[in-house]
Parts: sequence; structure tokens; C-alpha cells
Amino acid sequence: PADRVVGHEDSIWMEFTKLAQTHQAVNLGQGFPDSPAPKFITDILKDISAKPDLTAAHQYTRGYGHPELTNILSKMYSHLYNVNVSPMNDVLITVGAYHALYYAFLGWINPGDEVIIIEPAFDCYSPQVKFAGGIPVPISMTVPEDAFSASQFTIDFKNLEAKISDKTKMLVINNPHNPTGKLFTRQELEKLAEIAEKHNLIVIADEVYEFHVWKKEDMIRFASLRGMYNRTISIGSAGKAFSITGWKLGWAIGPQNLLAPLKAIHQNCVFTCSSPTQLAIAEAFKIDWPKFLKKPKESYLATGLSGELIQKSNKLAHMLAKGGFRPIAPQAGYFMLANYSNHNHNIDMSQETDPADFVFARWLCSEKKLAVIPFSAFYSIQTEKMKNCNFIRLCYFKKDATLTDAKKILKKLG
Ligand code: PMP
Ligand code: GLN
Repeated sequence: PADRVVGHEDSIWMEFTKLAQTHQAVNLGQGFPDSPAPKFITDILKDISAKPDLTAAHQYTRGYGHPELTNILSKMYSHLYNVNVSPMNDVLITVGAYHALYYAFLGWINPGDEVIIIEPAFDCYSPQVKFAGGIPVPISMTVPEDAFSASQFTIDFKNLEAKISDKTKMLVINNPHNPTGKLFTRQELEKLAEIAEKHNLIVIADEVYEFHVWKKEDMIRFASLRGMYNRTISIGSAGKAFSITGWKLGWAIGPQNLLAPLKAIHQNCVFTCSSPTQLAIAEAFKIDWPKFLKKPKESYLATGLSGELIQKSNKLAHMLAKGGFRPIAPQAGYFMLANYSNHNHNIDMSQETDPADFVFARWLCSEKKLAVIPFSAFYSIQTEKMKNCNFIRLCYFKKDATLTDAKKILKKLG
């Protein structure tokens, strides 16, 4: 194999998704909702598939995105960012957010360029930067030992700035944050904006959970901050927005000059994404977006889900506490962290070389049939501290039956 792939053979999702299946475990590991897909969307796709002569749905569409989809996205994000997002120039449709992220790194990073990644971080950023020939530069958020809220994860801005060199080209921000469930405040984001401005950095704003917030006004999109649209590539996901992660449709949004290198790659590597799903997502947004603006509670997006999300997160936190874990309450997104150090698990660690949380998560899955993700997987550098990591990540955006099954397991553990 090429040198660039060596050491990247198995991601955390490969191991833990397979492990969950092998042990038929209750799966609070991989982040996907297990409720039925929204019927109004599957109905749209059904209607599209019932029209075989609909060329716009079944043949190649415009390379950079189906016009119906780029039009509605431009309308939405022009409103959300309070700038003019051009449907033909400022939107690129991709195979999920993963793909948009990869294009952004590949399109902008030269060998040796550095990318600041705030850790813990979604695990694909660092490998993607390396595939592009770049150098990921991690900075760890700090958190008190006895944290109870995801808001207690904070960035030491001095430390972040100290990591910036003349090679630094980019800063990656993930908000709402995976895996902590943190929602960055305006103040924190403005500080990051100030740093990006001062050091002339491109910002990748991975905002795939932008609609999974308790109150829609709490979500501050980075590109909406003063002057930031011009230096930001914002990343979104239809899979996340409508709880259909298997559709794998995402987008990059930004000014024409920032998207041009991404498009240069796209036209030669993919050319265009699947037409029927693009059209279906466009129709879904056309129905849902006006509801979101007028009566968020009637919209599938955002606050339409929020009541459910808060309820599920409270339920999981409660179950975890009963099971002897210390949960860290999330502020948004799909995920919650929990400390298991008070847990009496009797695992023999003497022969283990992997971080403690990996060993614990494997044990929890194989012996107790509960799948979760070890927290240290979201750090690129396995320091001594990470070796003794006592946190796991759980996905609470699951149907009630799944959470009830988890409750039974946790009750026995307590
Ligand atoms: N970014 C983050 C923070 C994620 O959690 C995910 C989840 N898959 C992605 C990007 C990728 O999204 P998609 O499934 O649309 O590729
Ligand atoms: N984003 C999801 C998570 O963090 C799923 C990632 C994946 O399956 N590759 O769990």
C-alpha cells in the first residue's frame, strides 16, 4: 500500500460497530438514530422513484449540486449566516460531510502545512489531514476532573495561539461538538474568529449537528460572525439534519474562491452525487424550512427535535447514574460522555497495553452487551493520561425501546 495509508487500517467505527454486531449488543456506540426515517422524506423518495421519466432525478445532474438543492440551501444559509450565499457558486454537494471535509483538506493543504485540531475531536480529521500531506496539530480542551456539564470543556486560547506557526493554514472547529456534546458560546467563537483573522487561517466549521440544539437561537454558526464568511468552509449533512445517516449527502458552503479547489477535485473524482437523493432532500427542505422559520416546534429540524433530545439525554444520564457512572450533561448533538472510574468492573488490566477505556468498552460490549465508544479514540496523541482514560461516549439519540434495553443492562451494573 501507499505510505499514506499505513497505520490507518481500522478506524474506531470498524472495530466497535463490528463488535456490537458480533455480540448483538444494545448499540449506544456509533452515532445514528435507530427510529424509523421521517415518513415525509421516504414518501418524497417514493414519489420520485414512481416517475422513471423524470430526467432531473434519474440522470446525471449538475456536477456541483442539483440546482433544486443548491437553491434551497443557499436560501437557508443566506438567512442563517446573514450573507448572500450564491446557489451556483457557494455550495458544493458531497457524499456526506466526511467527503466535504476531505475535499477541504485536499484542496487547501500542501505537504507540511499545519492544521489546528481542537481535541477531543471527531476521529477522521487527523487522518484526512495526513492523507493530504498536512500535519495535524492537536490542542486539548481542558476539563475539570469532576465535570458534570459539557460546557466545562474549554479552550486555552493562549495555548492554541502558541501552537500557530508560519506553517499553520487551517483551524477546524466542530460545533455542536462530537464527542463531548458541547455547544460553543458566542464569546468562545468570537475569540476563535479573532485568532483566525490575526493569523490569516482558513476555518473549517463542521456544523453537522447544527439542528440538534435545545433552542435554535443557541446555535451560533461560525460563518455568521463578522467577517468570517470569507474565510470559512462550513460543512453540513442531510443525514444528520433529517436523521437519515444512510443517505450520505452533505455539503460544503463558502465563498467561491474557497470552494474552487474543492470543486476542482470533485469534478474529476466524483463529478456529481446521486440525483434522486439530492432532489428528495431539496423537496424535504422546501417543506420543512418555512416551518422552521415560523413555528420551529412544527418543523422536523432543530427545535422540532429538541424536546425529544433533551428527554432522551436526561433519560440516559439518569440511567448512567444508577449504573454507577458519572455522566457529563450534553448541551447539543447526539452524544454524552460518562466517567466510569467508580465502576467496579473487575477487569484484569495487567496484560493490557491498550488504553483503559478501550479495554472497558470491549468488556462492556462482549460481557454486558452494551456497545459504547472509548473516549480516548477522539485524541490523536495517546499520552500517559489517555492510557488511564476512564470515559466512554454514548449516543442517546436512540428510540425509547433501545434506551430501555440499555437501562436494564445499566441497572444490573449498578
Ligand atoms: N462530522 C462529525 C462531527 C460527525 O459526527 C460526522 C458523523 N458521521 C460527520 C462529520 C460525517 O457526517 P456524514 O455522515 O454526513 O458523512
Ligand atoms: N458520526 C458518527 C459518530 O460519531 C458516526 C461515525 C461513523 O460511523 N463513521 O458516531
